[in-house]
Amino acid sequence: ITKVGIFTSGGDAPGMNACIRAAVRTALYAGKAVTGIYHGYQGMIDGNFWEMNSRSVSNIIQLGGTILKTARCDAFRTKEGRQLAYDNLKAAGIDGLIAIGGDGTFTGAEVFSREHDIPVVCVPGTIDNDLYGSDFTLGYDTATNTVIEAIDKIRDTAASHDRLFFVEVMGRDSGCIALNAGIAGGAEAILLPEKNTAIEELCKMLEGAAKGNKSSTIVIVAEGEANGGAYHVAKEVKARFNFYDTKVTILGHLQRGGSPSSFDRVLASRLGFAAVRHLFAGANRVMVGLWGNEIRTTPLEEALGNKAFKLSEDMLEMMDVLSI
Ligand code: ATP
Repeated sequence: ITKVGIFTSGGDAPGMNACIRAAVRTALYAGKAVTGIYHGYQGMIDGNFWEMNSRSVSNIIQLGGTILKTARCDAFRTKEGRQLAYDNLKAAGIDGLIAIGGDGTFTGAEVFSREHDIPVVCVPGTIDNDLYGSDFTLGYDTATNTVIEAIDKIRDTAASHDRLFFVEVMGRDSGCIALNAGIAGGAEAILLPEKNTAIEELCKMLEGAAKGNKSSTIVIVAEGEANGGAYHVAKEVKARFNFYDTKVTILGHLQRGGSPSSFDRVLASRLGFAAVRHLFAGANRVMVGLWGNEIRTTPLEEALGNKAFKLSEDMLEMMDVLSI
């Protein structure tokens, strides 16, 4: 490999910049050229490239978002779109790719590298922590800390007014952010997509909290179809008993931004470094990930074929015990 193309794709996540920095410098250190590809797969199709040097990634380790921008690109889902992308990469002399993103990005990488002779190594970058093959994904730790900060603030007003707050957090089909932030923020109840909690069961918990003279109650609701969202849950609870003043807060996109935590910066650096090293060593269609305290590779096919379940039973049980 003589020239590495690097891009971010799908939803942005804190730590992507730290990863770009690590990957760029690791490749330059090995004497290779590096091209940044703007807007993920869209940039490949548009030929939107940036010849990078060591200074291109100065002063970005602490920044959220991604300096390479990101996008969702439907044209890349077509064979013609991918052919165009390949032609542009070839013309630019790019002969290896580092992709930072979520499962959609991995799927695109898998399809592309089977069709064309450019190897790809992927890095898990999404706040959802919903990927198999890494204990943690880039951005998850920062997002969870952002949620805890918000819960702490909501707790102040909830306690002052004896209110019941429903706080909706991100995570799509994964309850990782909800469970961990809920435990760290002392939530009274957590509704997870992985665990079907009936409204009656939740009401029983809330009744217990009210009888126990709790001055504030916070329920964390993971976004997504599973429970219908925080507004829906709040309405259902209100319809059953209304002794509480009920409020809903949807944290939304503020969970995506912000300066990456030290954990995310170190993880991003390790994964970016490892991804480039593996690419140079001949790896293709693999992702790098953290297993315990080791960085390992997993074939994309295996990563995409397995569901990541990262909630431990002891935490679920502990949640009920600690919220009395
Ligand atoms: P996040 O988890 O933050 O949503 P993601 O990487 O899963 O990130 P997606 O929008 O699902 O985000 O995927 C990113 C891009 O990957 C898509 O916009 C598309 O260009 C490409 N992609 C996804 N699936 C495929 C596929 N089956 N074939 C080709 N390209 C794909």
